[in-house]
This record gives sequence, structure tokens and C-alpha cells, in this order.
Amino acid sequence: MAEAYDPNNVFAKILRGELPCKKVHETRHCLAFHDINPLAPIHVLVIPKGAYVSMEDFSAKASAEEQADFIQAIGETARIVGAVAGGYRILANSGANANQEVPHLHMHIFGGRYLGRMLKKEGE
Ligand code: AMP
Repeated sequence: MAEAYDPNNVFAKILRGELPCKKVHETRHCLAFHDINPLAPIHVLVIPKGAYVSMEDFSAKASAEEQADFIQAIGETARIVGAVAGGYRILANSGANANQEVPHLHMHIFGGRYLGRMLKKEGE
């Protein structure tokens, strides 16, 4: 079972307007903004506005409208930031093995440079 949602996480604060963000795109159910510590020339985050920890939490609890909005917001954000032509990667970390730092579902969009293979093999 997914961990309980912590309303004091940093993205919940951004959604409540308690912390600033560099907004890229907003829909009824989602917000997209630049990552504060970019790992690529293009590095943006797309988050649902609802209180969901991870993708499986979101897929189990969010309405069909929220889920459709999230998928559309990710694609539209990739277009807005100019990631499409050169190619891009989307990635969502969930839980300890994935080193999820912020416990509010977020999709990273990386682009603007060659991103290499998706993951190192064990021992590499
Ligand atoms: P993850 O490891 O997938 O949980 O990634 C969390 C991401 O959130 C990291 O890439 C951080 O740089 C980013 N981050 C943390 N705080 C902020 C913030 N206030 N505004 C924008 N991005 C943030």
C-alpha cells in the first residue's frame, strides 16, 4: 500500500502558493514548473494538483478526468518547453528503491541534450 500523503511536502506547499515556482503550464488538475536543481538543459516537473504520493496511488484513486488531464499536461508541457524535436525522457520515481525525494507524484521531463541509456546495469 502507498504511504500516507504528507501535506507538508514541498510540492503541496507550491500548490498552496506557500512556495514560489517557475510555472510552465497549468491545467484544471495539473501544474508544470521548472525543477529547482535541473539535471539537463530542459528539466521540468508535471504534478497533479490532487494529493497523490505516487503513480500507483494516483492510478488507484484519481478520477478518469484527472488521469486524462495528467497525461495531456505531460505531452503539452514537453511541447511548450521545446523538448519534442530533439527527444526527451519522462520519469517518475516512486518510493525508496527509486530514491523518491518528494512524496507527491511528479513526472520529470528531461531534454535538451543526449541523455544516455536509461539505467546502469548493476555493478556498472
Ligand atoms: P524525486 O527524486 O523524483 O522525488 O525528485 C524531486 C525533484 O524535485 C528533484 O529533482 C528536486 O530538484 C525537485 N525540487 C525540490 N524542491 C523543489 C522546488 N521547490 N521547486 C522545484 N523543484 C524542486
